[in-house]
Amino acid sequence: MSNAPLPKKIDPRKLADRGVRIEGDAELALLPNLVTMLTDSQGKVSVDLQFDIDELRIRTIKGTADAKVYMTCQRCLEPVEIDIEAKFNLAIAPTEEHAKNLPKYYDALIVAGDDLELFSMVEEELILSLPIVPYHNDCSVQTSFGDVATTDNETDKPNPFSVLASLKADK
Ligand SMILES: [Zn+2]
Repeated sequence: MSNAPLPKKIDPRKLADRGVRIEGDAELALLPNLVTMLTDSQGKVSVDLQFDIDELRIRTIKGTADAKVYMTCQRCLEPVEIDIEAKFNLAIAPTEEHAKNLPKYYDALIVAGDDLELFSMVEEELILSLPIVPYHNDCSVQTSFGDVATTDNETDKPNPFSVLASLKADK
C-alpha cells in the first residue's frame, strides 16, 4: 500500500483519459463531515481509485476507500472500533440530464467543470458506508476494563419495595 498523500482536487476526465490509478492516504481530520459522526478524528483513510474509459466510451471511477473509525456504541455508549469500506463504481456525467442516460450499473457522478474535490467525493461515500446503529459484538468485554458505573444512575428512582411498603402502611 502506498502512503502518498492524496491530491485534494483532481480533473477526473483527464485522469480517465490517461487511465490513471490514484492510491494514497488522507487524515480523517480532512473529512470534517465524516468526523462529526465519529467519536475521534484520529486515523487515516486509504483510497485506491482507478480512472478509466469503458467500452461505451464512458469515463469511470472504480475502487475503494477504507478506514478504521470509532463511533459510539448504542448499547453501552463506549467507543467502538469499526472498519468501514466505501466502494466506487461511478460514471462521470456533466449534468443530471446526461446522468439519466448512463447504464444503470453505474452510479452517476455529476462533475460540471473540470475539477472534482476528491476528498468530498470520498467523504460522501464513507458516510454512506457507516453503520446506522453501531455497537460492540460483545459490550461486556469493553466495559470489564473500564469503570463504567451503571448502577449509580438508579439511585434517584424510588425503590419499588419502599413504595410497596408505604402503600401497605397506608392501610
Ligand atoms: Zn458496547
